[in-house]
Amino acid sequence: MSRSAHLSELQREFVALGAKPSHIRRLWRAWLGRAPWTAEEHASYPAGLARELPQIRGRLESLARFDLQESALSQESGKLLVMLPDGACVEAVLLPRRALCISTQVGCAVGCVFCMTGRGGLQRQLSSAEIAAQYVAALHVRPDIKKVVLMGMGEPSHNLSAVQEAVEFIGDVAGLAHKQIVVSTVGDERLFDALPAWSVKPALALSLHTTDFEKRRRLLKNAPALSPEYLLERTLHYAEAVKYPAQIEWTLLAGINDSFEEVERLADLVAGRYAMVNFIAVNTTKAADFKRPERSHIEDLITVLRQRGIVATLRESAAQDINGGCGQLRARRLAQHEAPVKAPSPLR
Ligand code: SF4
Repeated sequence: MSRSAHLSELQREFVALGAKPSHIRRLWRAWLGRAPWTAEEHASYPAGLARELPQIRGRLESLARFDLQESALSQESGKLLVMLPDGACVEAVLLPRRALCISTQVGCAVGCVFCMTGRGGLQRQLSSAEIAAQYVAALHVRPDIKKVVLMGMGEPSHNLSAVQEAVEFIGDVAGLAHKQIVVSTVGDERLFDALPAWSVKPALALSLHTTDFEKRRRLLKNAPALSPEYLLERTLHYAEAVKYPAQIEWTLLAGINDSFEEVERLADLVAGRYAMVNFIAVNTTKAADFKRPERSHIEDLITVLRQRGIVATLRESAAQDINGGCGQLRARRLAQHEAPVKAPSPLR
């Protein structure tokens, strides 16, 4: 069994050991913590599969382990440093209201200038098993998770087949409501084209951040050069087809994308459509001097949208106080071994 095998590869290996579909279902249930791993429970297994059971368990459980020393957990939320079998690490975030944010890649190639993860580039893809394993491991910390957002490190459209397998596992095998699985993207034709064929149709979040094409090119350096209007249209089209509202994500950077004019323009594009807007005030870090807008200004921006009939919220960043946003726990760990990545200058 390869350490970073995809779920489909693991399943093929189980079949090669004699597993029938009912055995595979029971193996997944044991991994999810919903059935015991004891030999009695698995007594009906073919001999080859039964013999390998301890090894299968060990390999599945090693796919994602939380480093609780480096993690920061509170009652309701917290960031988890996830150690992968090869020593690489990513982050997962427990969010309020029983939600979990997970990663899809080690690092990320999109290079958003306000994101710690984007500064280091892509290190490697996660396998579908490693993506799903973050959810499985989190169930052992918080068994009542009811929502999973693929919004951590990585761009899901850059690791599409693994993301599809993981989403289908979480929806079809683990049984999470499909609309409670949210795939977040900067917008990519490959994802828009693929989603309608998935057996599990997740909700879709578009990381838009601005309605200005040129500014978006500067903020999301390596995102596909698609216009905000086109990205919104594709996102809204999918949302209207699956009947879950599109989530428009907008990281607020003071003086850069927090003007009333820009938010009015966003309102022009989404008013009357099946969408909601989530503002996220940028995580302030020691490494970059992006600033959060004043709270009162954010509330005024939300009012602009609400007056146009648009559902709009400010999403509080989990664990802002302990190590900031996406990528910072991992960055701290890597800093113990490597020179830090130089921070970019803010854009004006
Ligand atoms: S914000 Fe998301 S898409 Fe942008 S660099 Fe960070 S992880 Fe990648």
